[in-house]
Amino acid sequence: MSKQKNTATIAEEALRQSEDRYKAFISNSSEGIWRFELDKPIDTSLPVKKQLKAVYKYAYLAECNDAMAKMYGFSKAEELVGARLPDLMDPQDQTNIAYITDFITSGYKLNGRESVEKDKFGNTRIFENNLVGIITDGLVYRAWGTQRDITTQKSAEERQQFLEKVSNKLVVSLDQQVTLQEIAQLIVPYFADYCRIAVLDKSKNISEITVTHKDPSKINLAASLYESYKDMPNLTHGIPSLIKNGKPEIIPVIDDKLLKKFDSSSTMIQLVQKLGLKSYMGVPLIARGKVLGAMTFSSVKEKRYYSNYDLLFVTELARRIALTLDNIRLFKDAQEEIQERERITEVLTLQQERLHLAQEAANIGVFEWDAISDRVQWSEHMERLYGLQPGTFKGTYKEWLKYIHPDDRNRIRDEFYEHIKKKAIMDFEFRIVLPDGTVEWIYSKQQVFFDKKRNPIHTIGININVSERKQLMINSAFLAEASKILSSSLDYETTLHNVASLAVSQISDWCIIGIIDKNAGYQQITMQHKDPKKVKWAEAVGKEYPPALNANSGIAKVLRTKKPEFHPYISDDMLVAVAKDERHLKLIKQLGMTSVMIVPLLLHNESIGALTFISSETKRRFTKADLSLAEELAQRAAIAIENARLYKNSQDAITVRDDFISVASHELKTPVTSVKIFTQVLLKNAEKNNDDKSIKSLVKVNKQIDKLTALIYNLLDISKIQSGHLEYSMKQFSFDEMISESIEVLQHMSDKHTIILEGKSNSLMYGDEDRLIQVISNLITNAIKYSPLADKVVVHVSVSKKRITVAIQDFGIGMDKEHLQKVFERFYRVSGTTDSTFPGLGIGLYISKEIVLRHGGKLWVESSVGKGSTFYLELPVATK
Ligand code: ADP
Repeated sequence: MSKQKNTATIAEEALRQSEDRYKAFISNSSEGIWRFELDKPIDTSLPVKKQLKAVYKYAYLAECNDAMAKMYGFSKAEELVGARLPDLMDPQDQTNIAYITDFITSGYKLNGRESVEKDKFGNTRIFENNLVGIITDGLVYRAWGTQRDITTQKSAEERQQFLEKVSNKLVVSLDQQVTLQEIAQLIVPYFADYCRIAVLDKSKNISEITVTHKDPSKINLAASLYESYKDMPNLTHGIPSLIKNGKPEIIPVIDDKLLKKFDSSSTMIQLVQKLGLKSYMGVPLIARGKVLGAMTFSSVKEKRYYSNYDLLFVTELARRIALTLDNIRLFKDAQEEIQERERITEVLTLQQERLHLAQEAANIGVFEWDAISDRVQWSEHMERLYGLQPGTFKGTYKEWLKYIHPDDRNRIRDEFYEHIKKKAIMDFEFRIVLPDGTVEWIYSKQQVFFDKKRNPIHTIGININVSERKQLMINSAFLAEASKILSSSLDYETTLHNVASLAVSQISDWCIIGIIDKNAGYQQITMQHKDPKKVKWAEAVGKEYPPALNANSGIAKVLRTKKPEFHPYISDDMLVAVAKDERHLKLIKQLGMTSVMIVPLLLHNESIGALTFISSETKRRFTKADLSLAEELAQRAAIAIENARLYKNSQDAITVRDDFISVASHELKTPVTSVKIFTQVLLKNAEKNNDDKSIKSLVKVNKQIDKLTALIYNLLDISKIQSGHLEYSMKQFSFDEMISESIEVLQHMSDKHTIILEGKSNSLMYGDEDRLIQVISNLITNAIKYSPLADKVVVHVSVSKKRITVAIQDFGIGMDKEHLQKVFERFYRVSGTTDSTFPGLGIGLYISKEIVLRHGGKLWVESSVGKGSTFYLELPVATK
């Protein structure tokens, strides 16, 4: 018996112990352990949907542990037991539907499935379930299971995913505006009902603010809430405080209790109430220690209250967003920098191009000289200026000197060394010889850079080809000089010769001038080259191959067409065309012509000759300016030639005239003397016979004969003066007597004028008395003749310093200043030779001056038109 009892006791004991263990396990387990019973067993052969419906309809919690009750917000199992399944699990929730469906289809056995349930407060909880149904004869009666609360883990996972989503958006975005908008749309409604993001610009002002609300119609309301508080002082929360403090902030619960603390009439509070704000948190957007903006999250949903856990999450979110914003900015800055750099590069390239073009256009070569290494760098154009292929300049100072014309080289070297220590800016002008022998003028200007000890270390400079300008200067100087030569003499052959030799030293290597002679045709007057040997050689060639005057080129053509020939470039073909045979071609090739110009000497549109300029050794190419110069020179030369010819013609005419006068006066002298004698005989007879009528006529005839005689003698005198044969018979005589006697004779000749003698010389005079009487008579006769309306002539004699001065003053027509000198010239008359009021030949004063000069005296006149003239005669007193 006892043994039985024992066995039963042991079994009971074991059972009890097992139940205790079960209870202990259940109550101590952190897992929720439960048993659901069904009001009515469910037929497992029913369609799944029907079974599902039945599960939700008949299941109720029959048993659970405290741990499970706690998962729903209760503290004890009793508080939860009895709950019906739909109370805990929303039957509409898709996750739940799938969960139960799977439970059914798997034969009421399922592990590790999630359910979405609600706790006592209505908060969503997520549980992981393991469960098994008790089936007997195809009917399910109940289910046992365990569950674990994975809500936190789940939301952490979800948030992680959210963060990833956000990050993905952030990564691809480079547009701040778009990014913020998209992120705000992710946040709302997942994490907030409305969300505000503000971003600062570089100067720390809020540049952008976005508001997103789950209900788009409330966006404006949310926006105006911000407007209502943004400028309020002492704000404890919101965007401005976040930006100012750079710290996250949270108001977990916004309820009436809290709002009561504020002035209920303020717009801000009214708006908060209108929006139904429940909970709030905000985070600054910080990257690299700098506040870039801020975000706020607001909940208006029943029961969504933010926790510190949430704040932690949004802080992380904000960190990522800030990082992206910072990246966008950096990218933008970099982009801008790149663009700026690109722009600068572009401008720089443009400028360099412009500089290059300007240098090209201005013909400017650029060089740099490094004094320490003595390396000289030349720009491409510089090389071109020196006739070099790009990249072929050898790059030293010495090498440069080689290109300088031998005549300029030493000067430049000396100047260079003399100035380089003193001057920051230097400029030179010199000639260079290009590899092909061409001579060019260069203007060089350079800036010298010194070290602290004032040693030159570096120079930068430019070279400009100034040949044209230089040649223009040379040309105009040449033209001036040539003109001077042309007007220096009337011997045109000599002057042309001189002009040609001037030309070869300044404008061309060869200069040939030829003139057309009426009888002999074109005659070369001069051929010039600085090397006389070459001239000889060319003359020989010219003799062997005389230029054909009918040629269709060269001088012949120019003479014929009266147009210049201008060949800045001479090609071989041109030489071939001109050459008469192989030998001739060879000879003219030897000349090495590079440029030729031939201009006609034109006079009254007729060719009278030609000027030829040839450039050879200097390789100079004549320009249009040179051609103009040649034409100008030709014009002046033609005028000079004409002048010379006219002069020669007039000289010839004068000789003819003088010869004629001399012959005529000689021839006339004898018959006039006979006539005079004969008249005097007749006059004597008439006086004897008192034949008054005849006397009157004969006196008149006699007077005319005297005039004629005087004229003939004057003409004779002139030809004697011309031939230097005017003779003087010198003796001593009383000057005063000579004067008064002359006046007495002259007074007889004039009825109208009284000749008044003033003063005396009381001097003796040594000279040809008759000739001096001739002078006095001439001057007084003129005084009377040129003062027809006056009634006197004053003769004033004075003596001073052994010189007698006679002033013969009239009150007549006088004369202009311009004639005062000229009246003493041969045949010069103020009123011309055809004048009838004052007849005369213009020889009296000429002869008088001649006589006075021969007596060591002077003769001059002072006069003014309408007032009269005073002729002065000054003669030396006789010295014993
Ligand atoms: P002529 O009187 O025969 O023409 P002259 O040689 O004596 O030649 O004088 C030259 C010119 O000088 C004159 O033609 C006249 O124009 C000018 N002349 C000379 N004497 C006088 C004078 N007393 N008053 C004004 N003109 C004068």
